[in-house]
Amino acid sequence: MTEPTRYMTASVELPLWLELEPVPVDGCDVCGALAREREAARIAGDGSKVSDCNVEIRRHPHGKNEAWS
Ligand SMILES: [Zn+2]
Repeated sequence: MTEPTRYMTASVELPLWLELEPVPVDGCDVCGALAREREAARIAGDGSKVSDCNVEIRRHPHGKNEAWS
C-alpha cells in the first residue's frame, strides 16, 4: 500500500512578491531608496508599485565593487 507523501505538498501561503523580493544591496543609495519606496507602496497596498520597485532593485547593477568601500 503506497500513501502519497502529504508533507511534501504542504503549501505555504506567501504572496508572490515575498518569494521574488530582491534584497537591496547594503550601502547602495539607489537600492535603499527603492526599498523604502517599496515599503511605502506595500503599506499603501499598491502591489504593482511594489513589484516595480522589486524589478528596479533586481536590475540595479552592482558589478563594480570598487565603488563601494
Ligand atoms: Zn543598487
